[in-house]
Amino acid sequence: MKLANVSGRAAIVMSGEALDVATASGDRFGPDLVSVYEQWEDFREWAEAASGDTTPIDSTTLGAPSPMPRQVIAVGANYKVHVADAGFDLPTSPVVFTKFQSCLTGPNTTVTLPAGNVDWEAELVLIVGRGGFRIPRDQGWDALAGVTVGQDLSERVSQLAWANPQFSMAKSFPGFGPTGPFLATADEFADPDDIGIRCDLNGERRQDFRTNDLAFDVSAIVHEVSKQLTLYPGDVIFTGTSGGCGMLEDPPVFLQPGDELVTTIDEIGTLTQRFVADGS
Ligand code: ZN
Repeated sequence: MKLANVSGRAAIVMSGEALDVATASGDRFGPDLVSVYEQWEDFREWAEAASGDTTPIDSTTLGAPSPMPRQVIAVGANYKVHVADAGFDLPTSPVVFTKFQSCLTGPNTTVTLPAGNVDWEAELVLIVGRGGFRIPRDQGWDALAGVTVGQDLSERVSQLAWANPQFSMAKSFPGFGPTGPFLATADEFADPDDIGIRCDLNGERRQDFRTNDLAFDVSAIVHEVSKQLTLYPGDVIFTGTSGGCGMLEDPPVFLQPGDELVTTIDEIGTLTQRFVADGS
């Protein structure tokens, strides 16, 4: 199943069109996705047989699949190839920071470039369904509603400056957390632990990797993070990126006004970000 946030209303995607959840369920679920995640398991059961009139989806109306998460968790240094390229040892527990909620957007946006060096990180993003505390590793996927496409846009100067780098601030400028276009449940994938992710800058392939190279896979992330945090319905977890970021190119490449960044997971869809200069 795929879900969309269409102008703030939860919709099931059926043959490329939207079935409004509140209308089809007689207001039992919805109207927004926040309340759908709060009732996730009842919703899933109802949604199996949901039907009704569908309407075409206008991609300009799509918002973030989880528009108001209580927590946005992000994992760094989590792809084996990428960590080796950067010259580090693999971490023994996930490297965790936050992207503040105010940076989250839907899938098709224009992003103002702040001062510094802004880079891309294509990522699989998890959206929590049932959630919980101390979730067993073999129940990691069961605690989730599904996954979506994300970009962990990052300003590298402030991210890496000083003795205590400001990961969370550097990755939370307005528009630095695009997500979407849909949430996909695990059964949308032939193997949910082997998902292909790509990223193109101005039509040139920059990143192309699969989640089977994760150091901490989806279940391990949910298990490890929930040892210390309670995960709530709708929480968002960025799972990390692999090689091909601009920072590690020689010479480095960073986003410029006029650039277009397209991030794709085939079974979910595409994010498109256009970048403009900071006029203020
Ligand atoms: Zn990242």
